[in-house]
Amino acid sequence: MPNRIPCSAERLDLLVPHMIQAISEASAFHHARQYMTEKRVRILEATDSQISSTVIGNAGLYEQQINLKDGHLVSACSCSTPEEPMCRHCIAVLLEYHRCTTHQAASKASARKGSSSQPSTNHSKAPSSLTLQSSLADIKLSDILKFVEWLQPAMNALENEQPFPPPPAIEAGEVSAWILAIKSLEDRRRETGDVLATLEAELRDRKAYAGRLTQQLQVAMEELKIAQTTTQSLEREVNTYRATLTKLGELTNDVAQYDEQIRMAAREILEKGSHFDKVATSFKEVAEALQAAAKITPQP
Ligand SMILES: [Zn+2]
Repeated sequence: MPNRIPCSAERLDLLVPHMIQAISEASAFHHARQYMTEKRVRILEATDSQISSTVIGNAGLYEQQINLKDGHLVSACSCSTPEEPMCRHCIAVLLEYHRCTTHQAASKASARKGSSSQPSTNHSKAPSSLTLQSSLADIKLSDILKFVEWLQPAMNALENEQPFPPPPAIEAGEVSAWILAIKSLEDRRRETGDVLATLEAELRDRKAYAGRLTQQLQVAMEELKIAQTTTQSLEREVNTYRATLTKLGELTNDVAQYDEQIRMAAREILEKGSHFDKVATSFKEVAEALQAAAKITPQP
């Protein structure tokens, strides 16, 4: 989300450092001034009311868009710094823009002194192409040579994934900003590599964990199969016992019936026995009567 600040200035070059400082957080302004002094700001395109730029921050390269529109200063940056109402990078861009416009106005004033016959220039057209020219004018050839000398071993170090060689002794300026930019990109690449390695290690751990879980699951499945087989054989045994018990119940009933029949038969036998006793007694009485009759009858 871009930040919007009410602003009565008609052109961006009218925003002087103390006005910018008045609306900035103290630490953001302090860092911004440091970035400007260390030449970390690069203005890519600028008009009276619009600036496109990049700034080498402490953790990488950030892009800014600043506009003066409908009485508001609208600024946006690709960083995630929570500074309000503007981040340190946008403040650094405004400071650098002010420095460039002041520098160019001074050069033009001295040029006019030299040739008074020249017509006066229109100030509102001034900032469009000033930035790159003024930046490049500051670069020394000796710095470029030192930079190129440093670049070759630096590229070798990059290829072999080794630390960069120490930077050459160069004054703070464009060339030292290039070196800073390269180092910052390399630091980010290295950080990304570290994160990637950590993620890969985590992935390996998780795969191993998943492998262990799968093995445990297989063992559990096999145990379940064995338990199912055991349960089935137990069910069969229980069914067999149940059938045996049913048969045993039937047999018990049969035995009870036989027992009753035997009792009845015994009772009948007993009844018949007493009847025989009576008959025998009768026969005995008849026999005794016959014997007595035989004794009374005289012998011839
Ligand atoms: Zn920023």
